[in-house]
Formats: sequence, structure tokens, C-alpha cells
Amino acid sequence: MLFNLNDLVRPNIAQLTPYSSARDEYSGEAKVFLDANENSLGSPLPKWYNRYPDPHQVAVKNKLAVVKGITAEHIFLGNGSDECIDLLYRSFCIPSKDNVIICPPTYGMYEVSAHINDIELKKIPLLPSFQLNLVEIEQAIDSNTKLIWICSPNNPTGNSINRIDIETILNNFKGIVIIDEAYINFSKQKSFVQELTEYPNLVVLQTFSKAWGLAGLRLGMAFASTAIIEVLNRVKPPYNINQSTQELALKALEEVGQVNDMIRLLVDMRDALADVFNLMPTVQEVYPSDANFLLVKIKDARKVYEFLLTKGIVLRDRSNVQLCNDCLRITVGSEHDNTILVEAMQDWYQLNS
Ligand SMILES: *Cc1c(COP(=O)(O)O)cnc(C)c1O
Repeated sequence: MLFNLNDLVRPNIAQLTPYSSARDEYSGEAKVFLDANENSLGSPLPKWYNRYPDPHQVAVKNKLAVVKGITAEHIFLGNGSDECIDLLYRSFCIPSKDNVIICPPTYGMYEVSAHINDIELKKIPLLPSFQLNLVEIEQAIDSNTKLIWICSPNNPTGNSINRIDIETILNNFKGIVIIDEAYINFSKQKSFVQELTEYPNLVVLQTFSKAWGLAGLRLGMAFASTAIIEVLNRVKPPYNINQSTQELALKALEEVGQVNDMIRLLVDMRDALADVFNLMPTVQEVYPSDANFLLVKIKDARKVYEFLLTKGIVLRDRSNVQLCNDCLRITVGSEHDNTILVEAMQDWYQLNS
């Protein structure tokens, strides 16, 4: 396969002179910083919040590099993965000309972000096994296909996509393959992060929002070749990761052990919850999950959803989604959450049998 990143970058991005921030032009030690029109008197908050944050998030990336076993130059940080998704469109897809491939049912932002950027979507649904339809994906690719989005483990189905199939696409597609690994920490499957040197067309997305328990921080990661990372850095807003997020992420990265304990607990509770659901007469199928949620096919899904709402329990109703008829997506909660949910579902069964 001939992969040439220069053929993929939008010409206006390739020619762009990126914004040069005050912190870009001078980033060393100084006694007096009068280059960024900050308020040198301070702020109502403690510490250094009067100063702009590091536009390159060097400290966070260095620590993250150790945790991930890669070098910092392969890391891009976004205001959530959602910013990474948007930046990939803006960097590589020419509006109303280029197209991308998504494989529904999958994460909704690939589609919304494509519409916002006026990029054509080619939808190649997953097979009933929730695996990729390689034959149709191959047929859909044309000379304007820039990106293929693969979510593994997939949201909302919960399964991992077969590694061999992903490798087939990586080896044959001349555009960029994005593997969204938002749920990888809950999976027994290996991450693709270690394959960056193997595949120049690979982008791996991960996030602090799920296993790390930090959805409120808004911090997403993209891992890719240095060439792709450089493109994303040209396009991103200069200070896209705020000071408090950088500080708190550094702190969290010290606590890998605690996070791994939570992951183990969530996986155990997921499997226990699956066993309980499997015994419920109204449940038709509990799909195997590599994530921190279960996709459950249940009789009268919409009615169950509404009944649980009256009890103050909110699930994600996916019953109208292709291949997910009559399915609810259920996040694994705390022990307490899960108990309340199971009791309410038993109430529903009692009332309807
Ligand atoms: C939750 C989720 C994300 C996370 O997005 P953030 O913007 O980082 O919170 C990304 N991809 C998928 C598939 C998700 O389910």
C-alpha cells in the first residue's frame, strides 16, 4: 500500500501559517512576563490561573507517554475525544467533496461532526454479528474517501471488532483509519496504540471520560504518527486544554493503580449484572460486552425504559436503532445503582406477568 499523508491533508491546512501564541514565541524561564496581556496582579483563584496554560501540554504528555509505553510526540490531546473527531474532519476532509465511512450502529459523534463539517457519510452497517462488513466497505471506498471510523469496543453494541478485520483495512486503505478505543480498558483485547510504527495511516482515540472516571474534565487522546500529530497541532485552538484540566490530569496519572482497581470492579459487576439479566424472563438477549455497559434486548424495551424513568432510573433507549431493535443500553453503575435497577426490573416483570 502506498500511503502519502501529503495527499490527504486539506490544501488550505497544508498551506496554513498556524497561530503563534505568546507561549509559542517565548516559553523559557523569565522574571517578568508581559507578552500575553494577562492580569499580572493575579486572580480571585489561588495559584497561577492568571496565566495561559501550556499550549502543548508537555507535562501531561510526558507522563501519559510513560503510562502508554510510547513517546510523547505520538500524542495529541483534545477537549474530549469529541474535539479530536472534529479536528480529524477539519484536517483531512474537504467540505462537500470528500467522504468518510462509518459502520452503524456506532458512536453518534462521527455522523454529527461530519454533518457540521459538510462531509459526505457512507454508512456500511455492521453485520448481524456486529462485525465489519469488509466486502461492502471495500466497494464503498473511492478516491475521495479520506477516513474510516472503527469503534472497538463498539458503542452501543459493546463488542470488540475482530482484530484481523481492522488489520485488513489498515493494510489496504490509503486514507486514515481511526480506531476509537474509548472502552479499551474494560476489554480483554489489546490496544492498537503499540502499532503506530507499523501503520502510518492509524489514529487511535482514547479518553479520560470512561475508565479514568473524568468525564467532567474533558480530556481526550489521539495517538498517531508524528506527521499526523503535527497536522492536528496546526489546526487545534492554541489553548484547547485548560490549566485546571492539565493539573488534574497530571494528578490522576499518578493513580493508575486506583483506576485499575475500579476497572476490575466494573468488569466484575458487568459480568454479574449480565448473569442476573440473563435470568429475567423478559430479557431476550444480553450481548457480550467488552465495555462498561451492556446492550440488552428486552420485550417492550420502550415501555421498560419509560417504567424505569418513573422510578428515577435513566437508561439509554436504543430500541429504534438499526440492529438494536428492542435494545436498551445499560451503563454498569455502582453496587447500589445496580441493585436499584435490578429490583425495579423485577417489579416491572411482576406487574406484567
Ligand atoms: C464516550 C465516548 C467517547 C468519549 O468522548 P469524550 O469527548 O472524550 O468524552 C468517545 N468515543 C466513544 C465511542 C464513546 O462512547
